[in-house]
Amino acid sequence: MSKLVFVTGGVCSSLGKGIAAASIGALLEARGWRVSMIKIDPYLNVDAGTMSPYQHGEVFVTDDGAETDLDLGNYSRFTNSPLSRANSITTGQIYQTVISKEREGRYLGRTVQVIPHITDEIKSQILRIAQNDHTDITIVEIGGTVGDIESVPFLEAQRQLILELGRENCLSVHLTLVPMVGGGELKTKPTQHSVKELLELGIQPDILLCRTKIELDESLRRKISNFTNVPFNSVLSAIDVPLSIYEIPVIYHRQGLDLIVLNKLALPVRDADMEAWNRVVDSLYHPQKTITIVMVGKYVELQDTYKSIDEALVHGGIANGFKLDIVKIDAEKLEKEADPESLLGQADGILIPGGFGQRGIEGMVVAARYARTHKIPYLGICLGMQVMVIEYARNVVGLANANSTEFDPSTENPVISLLADQIDVKNYGGTMRLGKSPSEIIRQDSNIYRAYNQNTILERHRHRYEVSNRYRQKLSEWGLVISALTPDHSLVEACEWSDHPWSVGVQFHPEFQSKPLSPHPLFRAFTQAASERQ
Ligand code: GLN
Repeated sequence: MSKLVFVTGGVCSSLGKGIAAASIGALLEARGWRVSMIKIDPYLNVDAGTMSPYQHGEVFVTDDGAETDLDLGNYSRFTNSPLSRANSITTGQIYQTVISKEREGRYLGRTVQVIPHITDEIKSQILRIAQNDHTDITIVEIGGTVGDIESVPFLEAQRQLILELGRENCLSVHLTLVPMVGGGELKTKPTQHSVKELLELGIQPDILLCRTKIELDESLRRKISNFTNVPFNSVLSAIDVPLSIYEIPVIYHRQGLDLIVLNKLALPVRDADMEAWNRVVDSLYHPQKTITIVMVGKYVELQDTYKSIDEALVHGGIANGFKLDIVKIDAEKLEKEADPESLLGQADGILIPGGFGQRGIEGMVVAARYARTHKIPYLGICLGMQVMVIEYARNVVGLANANSTEFDPSTENPVISLLADQIDVKNYGGTMRLGKSPSEIIRQDSNIYRAYNQNTILERHRHRYEVSNRYRQKLSEWGLVISALTPDHSLVEACEWSDHPWSVGVQFHPEFQSKPLSPHPLFRAFTQAASERQ
């Protein structure tokens, strides 16, 4: 049975609880411990699959095809925690399970209540992960802010687990805000109140991470310690980092956070190997050059919609020693622009990310054409690959109005379409190809092969439409290189333009597997190609 670390947040949302939890995971791994991460989202949606990017940022996909909160992406980038459906818990999921048990009569006629039935279900889902033999420490991030009605059952489950398992087996980390008011003074009152709310629920935090603009001095830390009953040495500064979130593990390590956690959990302290993280930070501070990647998508005004792609690009930069300037252009704006050069001319590389729905597609086609004809390195991810095929079909093969049936159901040339056995399905859920599956690279003279240097690759999918096999031959005859297929050769997984310096379109999502400590080969190769073009 592993030990438990709970991470909660107070005062307000968006203080970076996910990154804090992930950084604790990274530090414990750097000391040789095996970590599992769990995200709890107090909303009633069963998963994030149906949530709009406007509401919730990117949907992160796990190996087993769960569509989860983007914090699982942070866990995946910072740690080696196994991540599957079981690592993402929502209120909706808990209630769904409890209500189905009730319908099956499994509560034997008892009144089913929030306490103990909902809390028992929460505890059992946490313990299912914590009892895994391959885990020493399970980190549970409770989403939302302490004080929210929705979080109460989860905090109650936390309190009960601490009581049942003992304080030496559980640790409570609370992330709060120490705001700076006019005149530059730091204020501790919101933190005092937030901890009071936790105490009212029966939880005494062991460690406080205080989000602040500048480092807290000793007197402020003493004051917070006195008011909150948290030992002075466990009141730490979570300073705003201007350059990169990847500095955070290093900053916490300097303050001794990993030692405090291990001591409180009564675990032996092994040497910390921070070499890899230090190298990442060093490369971010000393880039050899800056390259500009233009991303053409439809949710560009939102910060978190393409989170994993943004990060994977940064990782590509880290691998090559470049700083990445990521310029996001609204595909609809490009659609209306008479002179695409004015928006795309700055690009050393062009990337079209995944997406759903028709809006902005024509702008993406303009971008793909521009990249092809101006010989600019191009990475097309999922929708970005489909757009590449549509553009090629229209402008090179000469297939009038070629399109995906997703955007034009009656197109005369449906180069992207549903498979025959998907067409009658009324229900959208369950018709998507989700999760990890293998692809076979069939051309060794391709960019994708040179990037991976492997014949079989394993990547995650999240899409419904496919390149239509009716057009595969024709597209190839006209010079579109089909470079990877599913192992049974039934579906196209990747393509590229011949007679072009570097282009790769992939039907899967490589961004979900990239980490700062092991940048994904496609992002490494793409940023390298962009640098050569520059
Ligand atoms: N909308 C496209 C499909 O469903 C692409 C999906 C994506 O980019 N993730 O196939």
